[in-house]
Amino acid sequence: MEILMMGAPGAGKGTQAAYLSKKYGIPQISTGDMFRAAVAEGTELGKQAAACMAAGKLVPDAVTIGIVRERLAKADCEKGFILDGFPRTVEQADALERILSEQGKNLTLAINIAVPSEELIERAIGRRLCRKCGATYHVKFKPSRQENVCDACGGELYQRADDTAETMAKRLGVYEASTLPLIEYYKSAGKYAEVDGRCPISEVTAELIKVLDATEDRGR
Ligand code: ADP
Ligand code: AMP
Repeated sequence: MEILMMGAPGAGKGTQAAYLSKKYGIPQISTGDMFRAAVAEGTELGKQAAACMAAGKLVPDAVTIGIVRERLAKADCEKGFILDGFPRTVEQADALERILSEQGKNLTLAINIAVPSEELIERAIGRRLCRKCGATYHVKFKPSRQENVCDACGGELYQRADDTAETMAKRLGVYEASTLPLIEYYKSAGKYAEVDGRCPISEVTAELIKVLDATEDRGR
């Protein structure tokens, strides 16, 4: 299964991709996580990405497409993958088509998690991440058992520097201008599905599984 998790910043792509990755046994590939790791390690890629991320802008297409191309060539992607946060522009979507066709693969489905913008801001501001294992929490909607401590590994939780009201406003503007057109892109390819992302996390997961299992059944 080659799946894209689509949705605005804070819609729940990473949260859901993590569950689906476990359920279907295919890797979750998050370009945001890859950039954050590169920034933390201080690599050349991290230096290129840091300023864009801090400003709420997209990292240039050529850079982003390059890291995804490399990642999708790894052996663990043979049986499929869940892309989370890529593509975010039509140029990235076209590049993904080329990469998949070179690998003799076809996109299974792009699923959009639809959430109104007021809720996105509250979700982003309350988001907390584990410094050690990357698990995602929310101070109100998915609190850790012990404040600022990861349930899974005991790591320290932190708030992303770009999860402020100001940077979120910029990120939502970029989403509307550059990423929203991808809904039409995948609709016209007959590869689009949408779930209501306003429900609690477990209900969104159940909806996604329903959509994916129905798609797999049709493909059999
Ligand atoms: P994205 O990867 O789309 O940016 P995340 O998966 O990181 O979004 O989710 C953003 C924040 O919202 C996180 O703190 C997460 O715990 C929380 N969250 C995710 N899905 C829901 C939901 N259905 N209801 C309430 N909060 C949610
Ligand atoms: P995310 O974790 O998906 O919210 O992404 C955090 C930041 O990483 C974004 O605001 C961008 O600066 C950068 N980023 C992540 N994915 C992409 C992408 N596909 N294209 C360009 N920039 C990206």
